[in-house]
Amino acid sequence: MPRVMVVGAGAVARPTVCKLARHPDLFPEIIVASRTFSKCKALADAFPHARIIPEVLDADDVGAIVALLRKYKPALLLNLALPYQDLPLMDACLEAGVDYLDTASYEPPDTPLYEYRYQWAYQERYEKAGITAVLGIGFDPGVTNAFVAYAAKHLLDEIHYLDIIDCNAGNHGRAFATNFNLEINLREITQTGRYYENGKLIEVPALSISQAVRFPEIGVQKAYLIFHEELESLVKHFPSIKRARFWMTFSDNYLMHLRAFMNVGLTRIDPIEYEGCKVVPIKFLQKLLPDPASLAPDYKGWVSIGVQLRGVKDGQPRTAFIYTNIRHEWAYADCGTQAVAYTAGVPPAVAAELIVQGIWKKPGVWNVEQLDPDPLLERLPAAGLPWKAVIDYPLDFTDIPE
Ligand code: NDP
Repeated sequence: MPRVMVVGAGAVARPTVCKLARHPDLFPEIIVASRTFSKCKALADAFPHARIIPEVLDADDVGAIVALLRKYKPALLLNLALPYQDLPLMDACLEAGVDYLDTASYEPPDTPLYEYRYQWAYQERYEKAGITAVLGIGFDPGVTNAFVAYAAKHLLDEIHYLDIIDCNAGNHGRAFATNFNLEINLREITQTGRYYENGKLIEVPALSISQAVRFPEIGVQKAYLIFHEELESLVKHFPSIKRARFWMTFSDNYLMHLRAFMNVGLTRIDPIEYEGCKVVPIKFLQKLLPDPASLAPDYKGWVSIGVQLRGVKDGQPRTAFIYTNIRHEWAYADCGTQAVAYTAGVPPAVAAELIVQGIWKKPGVWNVEQLDPDPLLERLPAAGLPWKAVIDYPLDFTDIPE
């Protein structure tokens, strides 16, 4: 039976390890390798019924990753570290002949701009090596891509309009906190807003466009247009899409803090000189604010993530809305985590099953929508992420039925 290696031991890694640990038949040995040994050890201790081996690893060091892969010979590496580590980990998997998956596209540390071109460049080398890389298999990106592929396979002959909608209506009781790694999260939100229309990438100032969106169980919330990496791959793989946008809700309190941080320079990613030391303001801010994993015990309320599609079926206009709703309390009861980390961390564990069982084993580098969505979506409800597809009703944002 194959070993798997999880790289990273943060908020998202916890639900992934929790789910892998429940399948000793498929994953009899899980290596958790990350920068801080105590966090790897804490994960191993949290799931004592499973065989989890903690290891320290610098995932920026290709030689060190290759050495660890050669030591344990895992069938698959699950990259749950940060986007900066995507390329060294992909290089190491190539050298050691190990399958790879991640949940976020590569982003150069000095340029907050997600682009798949860095990872798509590995396609031929992975194919020749006979190994599989699945990119962006969290929830968004990840399950959202599978929802679009499912719609293309079962519900629509052509997709014309796509809106991905993401709402965290939960309350953690803190003045301000992000739900996953602060540096990555704020780089994403504060960058120029981008969406695709008629083959063009349109740019707008950060958080300058908003809409009232009705979310199932939650009601109407103000959602802001931001760029999200799955838009890039989805418009490439479904060229019939005329417009693709991504919307995320933020509370007024969240935005008030965020704007204050931006106004005083605390979201800057360039180093500044302070008393003879180099300090990167956003990394300093991260040290001051709560660790996203620590929010879990007190978090209450719904998270809703879905895709709204318009297109045609049998020559007639058709709409489809496919979504998942889960509560923070459910995620905590299941895996001791909060729902944002859970929605991101459960899909990689399900994808790991599909890769090691050969169902998603396909040499090359793939975005999720290029793989059969059915095996993933069939398994998600039992793994804790129920989903629903609704067709044929108006998708003016505030007309989504509850
Ligand atoms: P955390 O900061 O909580 O965890 C990241 C982990 O990676 C930490 O354990 C960290 O170590 C480790 N790490 C960072 N750099 C290195 C390195 N050079 N070598 C070894 N280990 C390293 O982040 P999250 O768990 O919140 O996020 C993880 C990933 O999930 C991110 O890429 C994020 O973008 C992605 N994500 C994807 C979502 C989706 O739906 N697709 C949604 C949410 C997040 P240390 O503990 O020492 O800091």
